Amino acid sequence: MEKICVAVRLRPPVTQEYSGGTFWKVDENRVSLHKVHGTPISGVSYAFDHVFDEMCSNSRVYELLTKEIIHAAVEGFNGTAFAYGQTSSGKTFTMNGSETDPGIIHRAVKDVFGRIEMMSHREFLIRVSYMEIYNEEINDLLAVENQKLQIHESLERGIFVAGLREEIVSDAEQVLKLLESGEVNRHFGETNMNARSSRSHTIFRMVIESKEKDINASADVIRVSVLNLVDLAGSERIAKTGAGGVRLKEGKHINKSLMSLGNVINKLSDGAKNRGHIPYRDSKLTRILQPALGGNAKTSIICTIAPEEVHVEETKGTLQFASRAKRITNCAQVNEILTEAALLKRQKQEIEELRKKLQGSHAVVLEQEILKLRNDLLQNELEREKLESELEEERKLKLNKLGSLDAFSDFGGSSCQPQDSGTQSLKEECNDSISKSQRDLFTTPSSKAVPNAFVARRSNYSPLPGFSPLPDAFSNVVDEDTWMKMNKGYIADLDSIQMTPARKVQSFPPSDATPGNSNENYEEVQNLKRQLELAIEERDDLKRKHEEQVRKHEEQVLLNNQLVSEISELQQEAQLIREIPQRLGECAATCKNIYVDVLSTTQSYISDEKSSAAKLLSSITEIGTSLFTTLEADFSLPIADQRLRIQEQHRVLSERLSSTVKLLVSSETLNIEDEQARKSQECTMGGDAACWKKKLSNELNTIKERHHDLAKELDSHNQLLKKSKQRYESLETEFQLLKEERDSLHKTVSESSERLLLVTDQKENIVKYMKEELQGRKDLEEKIKQFTVAFCNRKTSLMSFHSEFKSKVESLKAENVVSVPKSVGC
Ligand code: ADP
Ligand code: MG
Repeated sequence: MEKICVAVRLRPPVTQEYSGGTFWKVDENRVSLHKVHGTPISGVSYAFDHVFDEMCSNSRVYELLTKEIIHAAVEGFNGTAFAYGQTSSGKTFTMNGSETDPGIIHRAVKDVFGRIEMMSHREFLIRVSYMEIYNEEINDLLAVENQKLQIHESLERGIFVAGLREEIVSDAEQVLKLLESGEVNRHFGETNMNARSSRSHTIFRMVIESKEKDINASADVIRVSVLNLVDLAGSERIAKTGAGGVRLKEGKHINKSLMSLGNVINKLSDGAKNRGHIPYRDSKLTRILQPALGGNAKTSIICTIAPEEVHVEETKGTLQFASRAKRITNCAQVNEILTEAALLKRQKQEIEELRKKLQGSHAVVLEQEILKLRNDLLQNELEREKLESELEEERKLKLNKLGSLDAFSDFGGSSCQPQDSGTQSLKEECNDSISKSQRDLFTTPSSKAVPNAFVARRSNYSPLPGFSPLPDAFSNVVDEDTWMKMNKGYIADLDSIQMTPARKVQSFPPSDATPGNSNENYEEVQNLKRQLELAIEERDDLKRKHEEQVRKHEEQVLLNNQLVSEISELQQEAQLIREIPQRLGECAATCKNIYVDVLSTTQSYISDEKSSAAKLLSSITEIGTSLFTTLEADFSLPIADQRLRIQEQHRVLSERLSSTVKLLVSSETLNIEDEQARKSQECTMGGDAACWKKKLSNELNTIKERHHDLAKELDSHNQLLKKSKQRYESLETEFQLLKEERDSLHKTVSESSERLLLVTDQKENIVKYMKEELQGRKDLEEKIKQFTVAFCNRKTSLMSFHSEFKSKVESLKAENVVSVPKSVGC
């Protein structure tokens, strides 16, 4: 948490002579009001972070007040510096400076690029914008066509001005040129620049993005900071008593943004506990400066004051405002983000998207569609805003006309063309009001005697004599009481105060516009009709696009369902494959039982347990049983282990089998020899044994073959199992991917549909509103026609009355002429 840095700057006096008895004295960081002979006036002494006297240069102000903020901005902290004070107290001098002593903006721009050069390990992207808030309208000073811009808020960009031109810049000279062209734009078409400067706020904004050059560093982390340099409108109050002691009408017009800034500062200075709701949304200025005032920014305020005694009350007000601002605390932090707002990242993402598109996939087509749709939406939104502002213009024009129509009917259309001397005074009033409205609206007469008023010299752009209008010459400043109370912490209710109506520089309706000008009305109606048709066309187009999108979405859903059923089939197949080892195990167990049965039956035929046939049989039983047990056990193992164990077992069994066979062969040879020796003696026994031997050896071969076949079968099963598993895994991954893709598409499509619905709704509202407008216009036309007819009737009757009256007078005169001589004669 850190406090806002507040400084006060006293500008040099415009004349050397002091008419009054007080003066402001600067002592270190304290400014106090003194009597002319030097005694301080109690209670009028204020201390700040810095107090700069009249000798202080812009360079020193920059060094002590702003430099740190600028450096922090390059490091990623938001920063704001603004100048507050009454007109002609030196705000613009402090911000813009002079040729010999450049101001804060100039120095900040140079310093930013100087710092960037020193930070060679980071790459930077700088964007600048320059705007003006005038009569609560935001105008782009870098692009004259961007007028009446709107403030928006998004998660990624925070609070921003939509449609404001942001120039990407690479050096200080480029920025200074842009600033210069911005100033020219600001002065373009303006008749009284001094008045405008005093009433408008200008905000110069730099967005500084940077990231590490080192590719090993976390490349996604981008620092984005916003630097605002603000020259505020004049903060003067209005005096209730004019020059000749005449009490002025209550000043109820105020500069809304400045009032709202006062309210916000007062609320913020109340301390965290008492704060409550901070009314940032009450004005454009406070909304734009919201982060600078109540949160994540390093902020400094320079309050400029005039030394002349005539300004003493304004100066006190400014110092009270400054004292309150001093209590505000902010909490600035480096803005390291991973958001869309970062242009560097956006560019990277765009490249990535293009690459994806090149690779091609059906999702890309959809993505493109969505992108197109989004652009359309944006376009529509812009057009809607344009239409809205046009409608607003129309409405105002209509109101103006209605006003003049009312006036016209009140005066019976003759107020400016009096027919007799009785209406002379009316004529004077009328002429007076016309001449007043034709003069510059802001050059109202000075109401306060200001013998030593500071004469502000404006920049070269002003074609008028270089003077600032007197503070109380404005209509849009708050009345004395409210303004003074605000400086002391009072929170004004903006709703109860009438704001300055928007002033038009160029598009005033012609002053000779008469209510009977139906041609103009006809054109307007036609124009409105055309706009209505266009809006309807656009709405239909949007509807069509929406339907198309819905159709695509349905197709996608169908495809997804197909994929889901395919995947479930594959899962079943995989389940079957997984069951194969278990079945094989069961099969091996059955085979083993049969085998054991066969062998035990065979063994029961051999009477001599010690005979070689019996030995062989038992050995075969043992081998076979062990073989089957191994098979059974192996089928219950995972595939990889199975293979290893089978190979091992195969090796062991083969060895055992071959040793048994060898044993058998040797015992067989012995048997044969014995048999041959005993052949002559035991002829009957020999036949049986040979028969058994043959049988057993056949059995052995069958078992061998069976074993071999089983091993082969197992191998092929294993391979099949492995392949199926791989296929299942790949299918599962594909399924997951498709599912994700489907979900994201689903989400995007539903978002787009929602937005489309919203836009369609808005369109319909506009169309409805336009229809109402059209109806209103028709009614108006009807009214005008009726009025014209009534007027003609009245005129005709007046004329007939007039001629009747005239003829009566004539006849009376004639009668008198005839009768007089008669009476005289009598
Ligand atoms: P503001 O913007 O507050 O209305 P300006 O900055 O236009 O006031 O100042 C009015 C006049 O006073 C300008 O001509 C300016 O050059 C001059 N001025 C203001 N402050 C100083 C200063 N500190 N030193 C010299 N001249 C100054
Ligand atoms: Mg100024």
